[in-house]
Amino acid sequence: MIRIMPRWSIHPFAKTYVAGESVQETVLVVKKVNDRGFTCTLDILGEHVKSGAEAENITREYCDLYDVIAVENMNCNISIKLTHIGLALDKTIATDNLVRILKQAKKHDNFLRIDMENSPYTQQTIDLYKNCVSDYPNMGIVLQAYLKRSLEDARNLNRTGFNTRVCKGIYDERETIALKDRAAIQDNFFNITKEILSGNGFAAIATHDIPLIDRIDEWIESTQVSSNRFEFQVLYGVPMGGRLEQLLDKGYTVRQYVPFGKEWFDYSLRRLKENPKIMSYVLGNLFKR
Ligand SMILES: Cc1cc2nc3c(=O)[nH]c(=O)nc-3n(C[C@H](O)[C@H](O)[C@H](O)COP(=O)(O)OP(=O)(O)OC[C@H]3O[C@@H](n4cnc5c(N)ncnc54)[C@H](O)[C@@H]3O)c2cc1C
Repeated sequence: MIRIMPRWSIHPFAKTYVAGESVQETVLVVKKVNDRGFTCTLDILGEHVKSGAEAENITREYCDLYDVIAVENMNCNISIKLTHIGLALDKTIATDNLVRILKQAKKHDNFLRIDMENSPYTQQTIDLYKNCVSDYPNMGIVLQAYLKRSLEDARNLNRTGFNTRVCKGIYDERETIALKDRAAIQDNFFNITKEILSGNGFAAIATHDIPLIDRIDEWIESTQVSSNRFEFQVLYGVPMGGRLEQLLDKGYTVRQYVPFGKEWFDYSLRRLKENPKIMSYVLGNLFKR
């Protein structure tokens, strides 16, 4: 049903989760989010480019985006997917493109986070991160709590300067490598976060799961982890019932992941599948037209 929805019926819903198609629209959204006390990370929607030329274009767009962030004085960094800059085509293309973006991040004293994609890319992503981080320390990675390997990855990577987002993971992975039980994923998320914060790393705690946020928040308070060692992250537009403002009031950094670009339709379908309750809203829209 979701797959056959016309684009116009999804558009009002998409506006909740996507800043816009253009950089100009996105700048306005980021400034509004900044004014409410949140920092942002920008993502140009898309992944798995089909040609080197496409990867080159996206790389240039990301490099330009750092200039825009600086000129517009936005409190904002950038997240990328490696298959968006060519990893599925050729590792050398992706490495070259990544280094170009990292140079821009360094020039602007900004930060780049590499999103984590599905499991065929896990090790390649970690390897690329390890190859680049000593020259470009302003970079971070993501660990997915549903992967059985992630706690061990956290142990191996955790040292001063290690900066990772912890999320549950969004792809459909097989049972041999991924936890399937919700409580087990929550426990793994908690343990990975504890591992990083008990060592010397920085944790970006990316979840909308309020009981999990409460559990981590309580642990942080009880162990008095300094607030410059972590931040909370959410996807732009996901309703959080005031919990984010409570985190801000405690002096914590809360970052919103703001996607934008021409690929808004596919991204919005993914959000819809995650929260089918919103389907009634979209269907209502279909009939209102
Ligand atoms: C900032 C950020 C960055 C991420 N980066 C990555 C990444 O690099 N790689 C990766 O694999 N995954 C990434 N994810 C996705 C993540 O792995 C989860 O799939 C997603 O966040 C849903 O899990 P949850 O922890 O919010 O908990 P859930 O248990 O899924 O959700 C908790 C509650 O939030 C609600 N909710 C969750 N998502 C939405 C939504 N989109 N719209 C409306 N309500 C929603 C649910 O209905 C539920 O009530 C990222 C998530 C965030 C927040």
